[in-house]
Amino acid sequence: MAILKVARLGHPVLRRVADPIPPQEIAGPEIQALIQDMFETMDEYNGVGLAAPQVHVSRQLALVGGETDDDGTPLVRVVINPEITPTTDKQFGMYEGCLSLPGMRGYVERPAAVHVRYLDEDGEVVEEDLEGYQAVVMQHECDHLQGRVYIERMKDLRRLAFEEEADRYLPVDVMNDGRDV
Ligand code: ZN
Repeated sequence: MAILKVARLGHPVLRRVADPIPPQEIAGPEIQALIQDMFETMDEYNGVGLAAPQVHVSRQLALVGGETDDDGTPLVRVVINPEITPTTDKQFGMYEGCLSLPGMRGYVERPAAVHVRYLDEDGEVVEEDLEGYQAVVMQHECDHLQGRVYIERMKDLRRLAFEEEADRYLPVDVMNDGRDV
């Protein structure tokens, strides 16, 4: 187990399309150790999601959090080789943050609902329909796997700010719990 170094904006690993993981490799020690290290790294930085390229590993693997079960325990999906499709024309906007752009917040609008198909940590196929905040976190992480970061999804760069100034001066349209993804 290890806390991994997080790649920041400008590192080329954040701009590569990550390589798919062959399903037969998922149960192997390399990928299972990477998953554990990513959990530890996400906890250390209090993130709500983390994609493998953010820890300098260009593979199609991400952790997607932001949901809790009935007891308030955080639920974090392990998402491998995702295929994501918007299922609505409606947009959902919020201030996003990213562990690879520390201290920044930017207002992004994305499709309000998506269908996603991926493999989990056991290599099982999962199909889900997500909406609202969950759909945002999933899209943000899937973007990382395609070499994209949230600022290029922004329509108005005047709504990019440091976290403290964003909290003080920018209108917050929906709840943002202040954690990065
Ligand atoms: Zn991010």
